This record gives sequence, C-alpha cells and structure tokens, in this order.
Amino acid sequence: MIGDDLEIACPKCDWHPDGGEYWQCDCGHTWDTFTTAARCPKCKKQHKMTACMPPFTGGCSQLSPHLDWYKNLDNLLREELERIAAEEGVEVL
Ligand SMILES: [Zn+2]
Ligand SMILES: [Zn+2]
Repeated sequence: MIGDDLEIACPKCDWHPDGGEYWQCDCGHTWDTFTTAARCPKCKKQHKMTACMPPFTGGCSQLSPHLDWYKNLDNLLREELERIAAEEGVEVL
C-alpha cells in the first residue's frame, strides 16, 4: 500500500482492493497495481486506467482512471498545498 491514510476503492462500485496481484500488464506480468501507482514493475509501463474486478469477485469490471481510485487524494493534496502556503506566508502566484 502507498499510505495508510489513503483510502483506495473503485470509483464506480466501491470495491476495495485486498492486496491481491490481480492486474495484468501488456507484457504479461501480474501484480498489485496499487503498490506501484499503476506502473508495471517489470516493463515500467505507466498505466493510466485501472480495471475493477469481475462481478463474481464483488467488482464491476469497469475501467477507471487510476487516480480516481484514491478517494481522498484531492483532500490530501489540497491540505498539503494550504499548509505550505500558510507556513511560507507568501502570496501564491
Ligand atoms: Zn509490463
Ligand atoms: Zn468496480
């Protein structure tokens, strides 16, 4: 996992990855895509879209942009930017 404070779930059906190596790259390698932010550890291809699991495992099989799976990423980024701005006390250009 990337961080304990990040919630990861399918943006379409709310399926939560359980740490399994379910994602297969074009090169044939399978791994847990959320450990590498969707970058294949074998051929280094950066995947923009991440597929959900098939319905029989509780998912919806739909493709979503990888970043959409990180539920509170926007909040974290915004808080970080606000914190930096407050600490520096300078105008943000
Ligand atoms: Zn690959
Ligand atoms: Zn889904």
